[in-house]
Amino acid sequence: MKNETYWKKLLSSAITTAEELSRHLPIDREKIEKVIARYPMRINSYYLSLIRHQGDPLWKQAIPDIAEIEDTWGDDDPLTEEAQSPVPNLIHRYPDRAVFLISSECAMFCRYCMRKRKIGHPFVVNDHTIDAGIRYIRDHTDIRDMILSGGDPLLLDDERLKTTLTQLRAISHVEIIRIHTRIPCTLPQRITPELCDMLKAFHPLYINTHFNHPDEITPQSSMACAMLANAGIPMGCQTVLLKGVNDDPEIMKRLMQKLMSIRVKPYYIHQSDLVRGTGHFHTHPEKGLEIIEKLRGHTSGLCVPHFMIDLPGGGGKIPLLPEYVQKKEPHRWLIRNYEGKSFEYPIKGKNNGHS
Ligand SMILES: *Cc1c(COP(=O)(O)O)cnc(C)c1O
Repeated sequence: MKNETYWKKLLSSAITTAEELSRHLPIDREKIEKVIARYPMRINSYYLSLIRHQGDPLWKQAIPDIAEIEDTWGDDDPLTEEAQSPVPNLIHRYPDRAVFLISSECAMFCRYCMRKRKIGHPFVVNDHTIDAGIRYIRDHTDIRDMILSGGDPLLLDDERLKTTLTQLRAISHVEIIRIHTRIPCTLPQRITPELCDMLKAFHPLYINTHFNHPDEITPQSSMACAMLANAGIPMGCQTVLLKGVNDDPEIMKRLMQKLMSIRVKPYYIHQSDLVRGTGHFHTHPEKGLEIIEKLRGHTSGLCVPHFMIDLPGGGGKIPLLPEYVQKKEPHRWLIRNYEGKSFEYPIKGKNNGHS
């Protein structure tokens, strides 16, 4: 079967009803039906095949949970993305970079999605919204970093994606392009030699992908990442910290190490956003700090991403770090290392004879 036909078939045969799902997994059909009336489900046979048992970390990401509709907590759009959209599907929050949603499709509907409000009410992406976005980017010469997101940009056809990339590359102030995609994890069959050949004409092009658990790193996803890396695309990973999935320092360490082994550099661990219907995934910020604490110094620095919290109200992403400085005095700081041992660091300055 042609590469393109194969991934499209996997996508179009994805499971979307409780009835179909019950043929594969032991589920409570009635509960699942209630949830998907509000928040639809999509699970393709590849990701389904990775689920090992009821309630495991991959199950939790893919299978609807009644908690989604019992949740009264959170907001549909806590990061006020809609208010920061000058034209439809374009979010401009920071001075030199913007996010452009160029696809409304995903290979799987992740239950904890930050854009859960949009799932099942597919926002419109068409020639008109793409043209309006391109015009905005062309008119805003301070945008030097364009982030393509969605939905998943890699669910566009090669030709369609190529057209948008060509339009962006024609804008001289756009220095780098990033594609934010979960495809290497949820539908790695989409990463074809033809796609990689097309993408490598648009360098400097970066990909940030999204793995949350070491069990997602399979021969298929490793192959997809190798093909992209071989096309010269630096790969990063944005992981979301999720209760019952990866809120455990040992699991996170294994994930980060495995990512490095497939040439994907851990970029961010995100504190999960306060999105309605996802409260059961939420962790205390201390959990993220504990994870960073148990990575830094204990494994390669390359395996240590930044732990980020996206401030509600559109304040943007802020890194949180464990406190290593124990005491600041004029002539010395007391700093602890990763093992908790304290060390003195002398401070040179005008007032203490060291200048
Ligand atoms: C996360 C985000 C970015 C990119 O942030 P980086 O820290 O540069 O990766 C840009 N715009 C918006 C609206 C974002 O949410």
